[in-house]
Amino acid sequence: MSDTIFTKIINKEIPADIVFEDDSCIAFHDVNPQAPTHILVIPKIQIARLAEAGEEDQALLGHLMLKTREIAKNLGFEDAYRVVINNGEGAGQTVFHLHIHLLAGRPFSWPPG
Ligand code: AMP
Repeated sequence: MSDTIFTKIINKEIPADIVFEDDSCIAFHDVNPQAPTHILVIPKIQIARLAEAGEEDQALLGHLMLKTREIAKNLGFEDAYRVVINNGEGAGQTVFHLHIHLLAGRPFSWPPG
């Protein structure tokens, strides 16, 4: 797969408001927030979308989810937040580097738009 804007963030070629980073993932504020708190949690390896993840990514996917939970807690959100993965253009994906949206700080309705 080709590089995306997120590769540049991982490589620190463009700035981002980073809230967490370790060897396998990085989390930063979304530049166009859809809630008072809107964080993106992404793997450092390139996986275009969830549909492209394989069995070999099982531990990484679990790590991303647990880090999302940890980041939410550290930001003061334990009881009410939404976690979203848009998979494919038809579901609203615009950046083809797997990412988890963590949204918090406002009420969320269901079903989502
Ligand atoms: P999606 O539509 O699910 O692919 O989400 C991509 C997200 O990346 C959108 O919410 C964008 O606002 C966000 N985004 C795009 N470029 C940047 C950037 N340079 N820094 C932070 N967030 C970005």
